[in-house]
Amino acid sequence: MNRLVLNNRDLNRHGWKMVRRAFCSDAPKGAAGTSSSDTDHNAKGEHENTAPQFDIAIIGGGMVGMGLASRMPLTKHLSVAIVDSNPALLNSTSIKKDDPPDPRVSTVTPTTISLFKGVGAWQYIEQHRHAYFDKMQVWDYTGLGFTRYNARDVNKEVLGCVVENKILHKSLLSCMQDSDLQKTIFPSRLTSMISSPSSATKALGSRSSREGSHDRGNLTKLELSDGNSLYAKLVVGADGSKSRVRELAGIKTTGWKYSQNAIICTVEHTEENRCAWQRFLPNGPLALLPIGDRYSNIVWTMDPKESLSRKAMNDEEFVRAVNHALNDGYGPQPKPRVSGGGGIFSWLGADVTSSSERFELPPKVVKLVSERMVFPLSLMHANSYASKRVVLIGDAAHTVHPLAGQGVNMGFGDAFTLSKVISEGVAMGSDIGEVSLLQKYEADRKTANIAMMAILDGFQKAYSVDFGPLNLIRAAAFYGANYIPPLKRHIISYASGEQRLPIFA
Ligand SMILES: Cc1cc2nc3c(=O)[nH]c(=O)nc-3n(C[C@H](O)[C@H](O)[C@H](O)COP(=O)(O)OP(=O)(O)OC[C@H]3O[C@@H](n4cnc5c(N)ncnc54)[C@H](O)[C@@H]3O)c2cc1C
Repeated sequence: MNRLVLNNRDLNRHGWKMVRRAFCSDAPKGAAGTSSSDTDHNAKGEHENTAPQFDIAIIGGGMVGMGLASRMPLTKHLSVAIVDSNPALLNSTSIKKDDPPDPRVSTVTPTTISLFKGVGAWQYIEQHRHAYFDKMQVWDYTGLGFTRYNARDVNKEVLGCVVENKILHKSLLSCMQDSDLQKTIFPSRLTSMISSPSSATKALGSRSSREGSHDRGNLTKLELSDGNSLYAKLVVGADGSKSRVRELAGIKTTGWKYSQNAIICTVEHTEENRCAWQRFLPNGPLALLPIGDRYSNIVWTMDPKESLSRKAMNDEEFVRAVNHALNDGYGPQPKPRVSGGGGIFSWLGADVTSSSERFELPPKVVKLVSERMVFPLSLMHANSYASKRVVLIGDAAHTVHPLAGQGVNMGFGDAFTLSKVISEGVAMGSDIGEVSLLQKYEADRKTANIAMMAILDGFQKAYSVDFGPLNLIRAAAFYGANYIPPLKRHIISYASGEQRLPIFA
């Protein structure tokens, strides 16, 4: 016997299984089966016949992969495998409220919050550090304009919530552990994927997921880095921007690198910050996001050379540089104007009387409390999200500039739409790996994602140029976004994930 299924006590308590490979002396040398010797061939044949079979294999158990898995209770009769070597998937220790904050955070939109509430994952987040914010201020270094958004402009209580990524991930994991579904974790990595040339398809439910080991014509075989292999009717690539699934499925991408890196870290103030701040500087935006207690998260975009020197600074120098960039550096701050002060843009004649938002100075940073991490930034979009038995979600399908904090929100949108399409397919007795079914998911998400990508890329470009006339146009855009109420409401609703832009609706 060359494979063992070990039931980890903790995981099993929650209906989870974890698969490990036992390396016995007679075990086949690697499930990829590159050897041509007869003995190895026979051993491989045996191994193939015992390799487990699933309806869905989710490759990548990051936030988006977990988002999909947590929605699977909608389709209770599906068997699901999750493949990821990330130790967080098997770690049963809980996160404590006073643990040091994780520098990787995400701003989640009200739509994402609703989706989390729908699967019961938001209650876990509410027990941990998180920060709702109801105000947001965006301005640039020229001092010509600013925009302040307030949740009450759209009759809402909040504009969003900032949550540490490890908490978002754990909340989805916990929610799944608490469900009665049988899922299997493979703590490994996908290495290869073989689609059967014979695609005789059978409707889901025509046999149990563990049966039919001799008739796997309608399945894709997945080979893992630890030598295990498995079969699945549908392979979901949730394996991030360098997706192996995308590569093995031969799906091409379009995109470009921004010549920008983002430095992220956690900082402390003397008082709690309750607003999301973003100042556009000549080399890129600097965001200060509340994360609860007296902490904020910094996402500072700049050219790669500058990011290396800012990472190398000592803590005190870095804190000084952040305060300079947010407050007194690079150029004048906009005048703290109240309603009616349209200034140089009063000729636009907008209804300024409804806005009473003043420009405010962001809170000073007093201390750096985490390491600084640097991420290169790029835009990438998969030319297709679906092919036979393969579908892409999250960063495997698209990556965007973090300036509006939309990346993982787009990924959760993918995961939740895909789960709906799969449920509908199951209800109709369709084959869940059929490309015609998966294209319904693609049609819905591609339109929404391309629209968001176009806007974010436009912003990135508009704010990367320091050129007099363009600075004025930008200032006019700030002015319009701040003082024209319908436009302001529209922007907030769109950024909240609540509505599509009319042209894409
Ligand atoms: C600086 C910065 C700030 C950001 N801020 C925000 C924000 O405020 N709001 C927001 O919405 N988004 C934000 N984003 C984007 C967000 O972080 C990503 O969109 C999100 O992490 C993507 O999640 P994912 O699960 O799709 O991919 P990933 O997080 O990359 O997860 C992929 C998973 O797949 C696994 N994997 C990879 N290869 C394999 C393989 N071969 N086999 C098995 N498993 C594999 C990995 O171990 C990993 O667990 C930000 C991004 C950056 C860089």
